[in-house]
Amino acid sequence: MEKAKTCQSCGMPMAKESDFGTEKDGSRSEDYCTYCYQNGAYTEPEITIDEMAKKGGAIMSQMFEIPSENAVNFAKEQLFVLKRWAGLEIPSCESCGMPMKEESEFGTENDGSKSTRYCTYCYQEGEFTEPELTKEEAVSKYAPMMAEHLKMPLDKAKVMVESYLTTLPRWNN
Ligand SMILES: [Zn+2]
Repeated sequence: MEKAKTCQSCGMPMAKESDFGTEKDGSRSEDYCTYCYQNGAYTEPEITIDEMAKKGGAIMSQMFEIPSENAVNFAKEQLFVLKRWAGLEIPSCESCGMPMKEESEFGTENDGSKSTRYCTYCYQEGEFTEPELTKEEAVSKYAPMMAEHLKMPLDKAKVMVESYLTTLPRWNN
């Protein structure tokens, strides 16, 4: 399955053609969304990662009842791994979404080589560590951690995790 694209400036998942930004020649940008990037340039070239985190955090805070400071910090963590802010595209696990920065964070294939798609917690020796895990179970597993981490209501955490997992290839079917 094609890997869902994430805007490498704001982190928004890009699914529909209209979600993608445009290059100078009118073709679609493979890296950035329509809100961040138009005609080959950033719509807000001067924006800093902190300002971007503030904006994203405010939206998350309102949508999911996350205390605003936690939401802004969380938004910033998400931004840090994107190409616009990290300087390069950092791969994230296609099962749990964890960014994989260190060699040791990648899962392993059958032959011992590193997986390019999954993290070490999700994938070992060519197989998922929890092959039977369903999306619903994954939501039940990750939502309480998210609720605890961000001090948000569990039901909101479930909605947030569920919509996030839907953007990852393992769960997006
Ligand atoms: Zn993972």
